[in-house]
Amino acid sequence: MSAIAKVEPMTTARALRGPFDYRLPEDLREGVDVGSMLVVPFGRREVLGVVVGLAESSEISEERLLAPLRALELGVPVDLVALAEWIAAEYCSTIARALALVLPPGAARRLSGRKRRTPKRTDHLPVGAVASGSLQLTAEQQAALDDLLDALRAPAPAQRLLHGVTGSGKTEIYLRATAATLEQGRGAIVMVPEIALTPQIVGRFIERFGDTVAVMHSRLSAGERYEQWRRLRSGEARVCVGPRSAVFAPIEPLGLIVLDEEHDASYKHEGDPRYDARTVAARRAHDCKALLLLGSATPRPESHQAVPRLRLPGRADGRPLPPVSVLDMCGQPQGLHPQTAQALADVRRSGRKAIVLLNRRGWSNFLSCRSCGAVWSCPHCDVALVLHRSQGVLACHHCGHREQLPERCTCGSGTLARHGAGTERLEHDLAAALDDGGFPMFRLDADTVSGAGEVATLLRRFQDAPAGVLLGTQMVAKGHDFPDVTLGVVLDADATLRFPDFRAEERTFALIAQLAGRVGRGGEGQVLVQTIAPQARSIQHAARHDSEGFLSGELERRQALRYPPYSHLVRIVCAAADTPRARAAASAIRARMQLADAEVLGPAALFRLRERERQVLVVKATERAAAVRCIGAAVQQVASARTHAGVSFSVDVDPQ
Ligand code: ADP
Ligand code: ZN
Ligand code: ZN
Repeated sequence: MSAIAKVEPMTTARALRGPFDYRLPEDLREGVDVGSMLVVPFGRREVLGVVVGLAESSEISEERLLAPLRALELGVPVDLVALAEWIAAEYCSTIARALALVLPPGAARRLSGRKRRTPKRTDHLPVGAVASGSLQLTAEQQAALDDLLDALRAPAPAQRLLHGVTGSGKTEIYLRATAATLEQGRGAIVMVPEIALTPQIVGRFIERFGDTVAVMHSRLSAGERYEQWRRLRSGEARVCVGPRSAVFAPIEPLGLIVLDEEHDASYKHEGDPRYDARTVAARRAHDCKALLLLGSATPRPESHQAVPRLRLPGRADGRPLPPVSVLDMCGQPQGLHPQTAQALADVRRSGRKAIVLLNRRGWSNFLSCRSCGAVWSCPHCDVALVLHRSQGVLACHHCGHREQLPERCTCGSGTLARHGAGTERLEHDLAAALDDGGFPMFRLDADTVSGAGEVATLLRRFQDAPAGVLLGTQMVAKGHDFPDVTLGVVLDADATLRFPDFRAEERTFALIAQLAGRVGRGGEGQVLVQTIAPQARSIQHAARHDSEGFLSGELERRQALRYPPYSHLVRIVCAAADTPRARAAASAIRARMQLADAEVLGPAALFRLRERERQVLVVKATERAAAVRCIGAAVQQVASARTHAGVSFSVDVDPQ
């Protein structure tokens, strides 16, 4: 029983260097351990603190040490405290910010008014069609499962990649691996990209494991979320299904972490700490001697290269994947290719379902003046404004700025040109092409649905409709599984290729392959891909359902260009009111980085965002830990120098 608790106060100040020592009064000694949460006096405030260590004595004299005011009933598991410490270092953040990730939901807020709400019952999400408990596994599934069961029984931690198309029976494997984990007396975490887009997998876990499952999703109130956390912490629930943050579920002992759709970009957290839940899951699984199981139809090259693979080559029901035709749009007028229009008309006539994907919101990309050429751009960011016609506004997709649609240009001209098409325009064009208002259309993008609840509702309406078209941004190609879609269409498939990003090929491939996986589940089907780059490698491989070929080519390309997994990228952004300040800070960081085995690119300008000029440095390093340490130190030094006051810094390890 220790007399001193080392406590990290939950404050966001970067300058503070904890932990701080507190004297434990007799009555607290027994119950307090690493991971305990205490309310402590701190300066003139009372703050929540997390115990990160215990000691017999302190360097500070006993009478000067303060005592905690009280201890909260439930703390966090010890392994999560260590994980938070690792995250703080790995992603150049602070220990308090990293600890905030692993604390019970709303912990800091519940400090004052600690009234417990009676939790509402979680409304059950729709369940997949088949109660699959008694399925006879295919030979491939059985082989994969046997391997996983061996890995679960082994004393050392392990990783596996389950590579199989949509419908190949991956979820069935996750369910059985989870059952085996529970039989061993251990718990499991099942991570999915977004609950709203993946209700079926959640439904199947609840159906199979009942109250043993805790579901974490954004539609829960703070009280409900805390209740799910408490059920896991107390051991009442032993399986946690949820998005990215589920990696911090308080499960002890942990035996399995499943990461479904492991290629999905939502696993990367965009706030500080900018952690990647896949990397964190690997770390946690390793520390807990648990099995990490990644699953995807389109795994990342990084996982393909590093993780032993289990292959499910075909659909579980034995049906083939739909044929994919690439339609060359060079020289074609904007809009639908004649073959696409024909296929949609067929779907309408036969009363079937189609999914149409266009990865761009709004009506048109940008607006310009036909007479002087002026382009309407955001006053706060250097990007073009996007036209949203039904609302009659121009909107910035980066900062949210909106303004009225102009009637004329400042030069006096009233003829304005609209360039490019977005989902809003597409809906209009489709209605025209299907020349009837009677065919149901469901548009899914950030303008038509806000929040997870509305997404789920819209998808359910499409699912329940006897016929219709689901159209929208990449959301339409994710997770959800409709048995009766006979046509998939990707418009402007090369749009994602035009992003200046080394993952552009990977994203394009995944988008097409993911959509193809959702078509023709009930039998016949076809996929049409409209593009002005029909020969692009990603499009060609996707059209042949050749993920092996795509992955090996992509790895070769990455090796030649020294991109991940052959290097680690760190991105440092300096933002300031004017360019010289931002640039000076970036140059100062660059000058301070003594990295033997790394390549530093920049400073280079990023477009102005929210009135801030931005300069970016990108480091390609071989030795990840050394690079992160060195960069962290350089940023710290520059950030605390007076010359660079007013500059804000963000460090992104493994940027997406
Ligand atoms: P994935 O997760 O790879 O998309 P699922 O596990 O959801 O695949 O399986 C797709 C469909 O096939 C589900 O309806 C599931 O019940 C069914 N299924 C899975 N395994 C089998 C099997 N061995 N035999 C018959 N049907 C299966
Ligand atoms: Zn003009
Ligand atoms: Zn803006």
